[in-house]
Amino acid sequence: MPDEQIYIGRFAPSPTGPLHLGSVFTALASYLQSRSHKGKWLLRIDDLDTPRNINGSVDNILRTLDALGLHWDDSVAFQSKSLDYYHEVLDKLNKKEHIYPCRCSRKDRTARYGGFCRDNHFNLDIPHAYRVKTDDTVISFYDELQGSKIYPIDEQGDFILKRKDQIIAYQFAVVIDDNLQSVNHVVRGYDLLDSTPRQIFLQKMLGFKSPIYMHVPIIIDTEGYKLSKQTKALAIDLKRPQEVIFDVLRLLKQSPPKEFRQAKVTDLLAWAIEHWDPMSLKNCKAINKSGL
Ligand code: GLU
Repeated sequence: MPDEQIYIGRFAPSPTGPLHLGSVFTALASYLQSRSHKGKWLLRIDDLDTPRNINGSVDNILRTLDALGLHWDDSVAFQSKSLDYYHEVLDKLNKKEHIYPCRCSRKDRTARYGGFCRDNHFNLDIPHAYRVKTDDTVISFYDELQGSKIYPIDEQGDFILKRKDQIIAYQFAVVIDDNLQSVNHVVRGYDLLDSTPRQIFLQKMLGFKSPIYMHVPIIIDTEGYKLSKQTKALAIDLKRPQEVIFDVLRLLKQSPPKEFRQAKVTDLLAWAIEHWDPMSLKNCKAINKSGL
């Protein structure tokens, strides 16, 4: 099979705390999707947002995945190692006038940015971000679980590629890294669905082929909040890894035979790869963890 035909998936956690049930849910979905296609499964640590990084998280992420039997291919990639490359690409985009410096402060993060700084030239000693010029492009894509999506990119306004605090923005870094790693399938949480049009817009601008996307439901707690490191979701207890995988498979709407709850994790994963059916999550946006 030519190289570009090989399924290349990835899991890209941010090192902002220990892995919790919600992150293991996404990791397992992405792992099973890759392995059931006889593909590669890469691990990338999205560590650019340094103020949010928490010491020890990388170690916890690697240990947890390893204990759960979710072994990745190749060496672990770190976004922080691509910093020079992001800046090189930014320079190119700047020369082509696809991006512009912006000194506006973001009082309301949800509001669409009206493009004030496109024509507002200022002394570049003043702290500034870089925004990409959006236009009337309409982005459409097919998400393997959430179906056809159409977004006029202009609705999102000119978005930030490099923040005022000099940090490379997620939307830009993820596009560069997925391309660097030849990722052609992205499985991630539903909360990132709205980011996808911005990423496809950048891929088109940079001449990259877009991966195929699958946005899996997020796991919510009994109050309806997304499990996240910010809401202090509990770290995974690794004493009985096969029980964790068994329970997460149930949350993924798979039906492992109950004797597998006590089986070896490698046997359980082999069963899961063989029987993986993501379509049971079709159109599903959130799953309550109390469904366990
Ligand atoms: N690093 C992001 C996160 O932890 C995920 C990035 C992605 O899958 O595109 O939420």
